[in-house]
Amino acid sequence: MLEVFKKYDIEEVLPFAVDPLLPNELVKNKIRRSSEEFQNSVYRNYDGNKVKMASWRYQVFKKSLKCVNCGIEGEYFQLERHIGDKSFHFNLYAELDGKPVLMTKDHIVPVSKGGKDEINNFQTMCSTCNGEKRNSKDYSRSFTDQKPRIATKGNIETLWGGRKDSFRCYMCGYRFQVGDYWRWVYTNNVEGASGNPIVCNCCDGEDVVERWKKLVNEVGEKYWWFVRR
Ligand SMILES: [Zn+2]
Ligand SMILES: [Zn+2]
Repeated sequence: MLEVFKKYDIEEVLPFAVDPLLPNELVKNKIRRSSEEFQNSVYRNYDGNKVKMASWRYQVFKKSLKCVNCGIEGEYFQLERHIGDKSFHFNLYAELDGKPVLMTKDHIVPVSKGGKDEINNFQTMCSTCNGEKRNSKDYSRSFTDQKPRIATKGNIETLWGGRKDSFRCYMCGYRFQVGDYWRWVYTNNVEGASGNPIVCNCCDGEDVVERWKKLVNEVGEKYWWFVRR
């Protein structure tokens, strides 16, 4: 069970995040956890609740509020705790069709494949896409593999970007049928692009990332897949 205290704006939280390594540094420098100095530099008071501000998640969300896969964007923080927990922590949420979607810190290279707990190996991903990534057979390849594929019934039944009936070409809106060619184009870290478009045979080509960037800028909507369809 989750106890929700209150919603907070992004600006009320992220600017106050501190270096996740700070607590250890302080302890190394013989500053006791119970000391005022330690408490004041690691925690922040939110309406009477002491919240630890040293966390990798906040640093990852500082880099980007958007899911690297579907482009959905975190809009607010919620101060919450599980029943039985002593203290509250912030979770970031996006909204899709009026429903909250939890945003997570994803390991680009999974820990199981030797990925490290460091900022360059973290990216923002919504819980829907993170679930898909976990469930995929080859965890490490799932989000970077751009080879052509043939649409399966499973592809069609998957919730892409958390939406039903959304397995379509992101360029032209074509709804894939079993047996169709499709390809996933990985655009992460390409300036001006967000999300990884799925393209059909006709829309695929050398310049797909460029066209995608243009399209996203033109549509100018967070939920571009919705606008295009
Ligand atoms: Zn997502
Ligand atoms: Zn197309």
